[in-house]
Amino acid sequence: MLNIVIFGAPGSGKGTQSVKLSEKYGLEHVSTGDMLRAEIEANTEFGQKADSYISKGHLIPDEVMIEKLDDLMRKKNGVKGFIFDGFPRTLAQGKALDEMLEKYDEKVSVVLSLEVEEEELVNRILKRGEISGRSDDNRETVESRLNVYRNQTEPLKSFYNERFKLVRIPGQGSIDDIFDSISTVIDRIIA
Ligand code: ATP
Ligand code: MG
Repeated sequence: MLNIVIFGAPGSGKGTQSVKLSEKYGLEHVSTGDMLRAEIEANTEFGQKADSYISKGHLIPDEVMIEKLDDLMRKKNGVKGFIFDGFPRTLAQGKALDEMLEKYDEKVSVVLSLEVEEEELVNRILKRGEISGRSDDNRETVESRLNVYRNQTEPLKSFYNERFKLVRIPGQGSIDDIFDSISTVIDRIIA
């Protein structure tokens, strides 16, 4: 299996690139953000709880997210591989992902880190907020999301770098140019 973690700050383009990757390489796109927004949309009890964290720019607690990811993976038997988008977001989630994949005798193949300057991230998120209707795409929440990213998520870069899995991808420029850089990396892995 080819198991890709797409990594980056909020607004770095993980979702956009994941969709293209899943189409080109026939991989299963697992987006925790999309899953949570579907729950919010359906107004489930879990969705309401989740939105109380999301709208503040906080993370949903690890135990809850790890269990949700386990559920998502168990439903997808016999796939060629996964693209993990939005997970892991903490070191605990990173360790849990390794353990979950181990159960299937699998591992993370590569971590693609989309590198985007902070000013650009803020601009993208505020622009997306004008149309997305997302409770977290606004000026008040964006600072908190970036803080959470720096403090809780970014340490995963060393975690994966030490394991020789991290590949940095320049995340500014056209969507297609960024996707070309990603494709070059993936083609080298599957060759
Ligand atoms: P993108 O790069 O696609 O713009 P994003 O950071 O804007 O990514 P999502 O990945 O969609 O957004 O996540 C939105 C929110 O959902 C997060 O800010 C967080 O509150 C919650 N969330 C998503 N994934 C997780 C996770 N693995 N653990 C905890 N909370 C999560
Ligand atoms: Mg996203």
